[in-house]
Amino acid sequence: MKSVHRILPLSLLGGLLVSTLWLGQAAKDDAAAKVQKVLLVDGQNNHKWQATTPVLKHALESSGRFTVDISTSPSKGSKDGWDNWRPQFADYDVVVSNYNGELWPKEVQDSFETYVKGGGGFVTVHAADNAFPQWREYNEMIGLGGWGARNEVSGPYVYYKEGKMIRDTSPGRGGSHGKQWEFNVDTVNAEHPIMKGLPKSWKHAKDELYSELRGPATNMTVLATSPSKKSKRDEPMLMVMDYGKGRVFHTTLGHADYSMRCQGFYTTLQRGTEWAGSGQVTIPVPDNFPKADALSPLETP
Ligand code: ZN
Repeated sequence: MKSVHRILPLSLLGGLLVSTLWLGQAAKDDAAAKVQKVLLVDGQNNHKWQATTPVLKHALESSGRFTVDISTSPSKGSKDGWDNWRPQFADYDVVVSNYNGELWPKEVQDSFETYVKGGGGFVTVHAADNAFPQWREYNEMIGLGGWGARNEVSGPYVYYKEGKMIRDTSPGRGGSHGKQWEFNVDTVNAEHPIMKGLPKSWKHAKDELYSELRGPATNMTVLATSPSKKSKRDEPMLMVMDYGKGRVFHTTLGHADYSMRCQGFYTTLQRGTEWAGSGQVTIPVPDNFPKADALSPLETP
């Protein structure tokens, strides 16, 4: 009888412990696997945002893990449209920017800072890192940026040389690129959730390879680089930043719709967006992910 008394409570305790752990894991999986609400911001860009926004929307929604609303800003030079443009960032898990244009009204800037600082996710795509050179907090979020008279005051150049990250404070303009080409993207942080299971190197669709970006680069982790023919450096292509309680995923890829119709672009955007919104990545790496010597083009809208 003694031993039964002893065993029963122990097994009960064990059962409780197992179910508690299991429930905890299930809750975690639920949080990560839920459909995230994305707000895609566009409306001004020196790129064809009307052509790229539908591809970005498809890239996210085709995973079955996001719903995407679009908020289009007033067009350039609009006098009074700005008074009516008030994106409700707080209603979303992640904000994705396909915007490079006029400075947002102070009220919108403030609400965006509050949103990300408070734990909101943010994803910046290609020329969105050209935007807002004068907005300090935005530059903290994106880590690195280019053009718009960025220079040594904006922060260091950040690049890789022989596998080591260099922060280079030498004077000079921020932002350059050579001719578009099909270049390889190389993993430099294989342990980050966005990168786990991705190949060490993969071929990316014809795109602009951004080089010589500069910015505050605080709380920044570089995930992948590409070898620039222009700067002769390995330049950051995919990065993540912490900003307050928020998470930021930065992809410099995606100059045009044809640059985005690439399984490598789709998968890294999906996983980066999931991570920005939840801190976890559950979207799998598909079998048709590009290889070191093989592109994986997509026939998508
Ligand atoms: Zn471009």
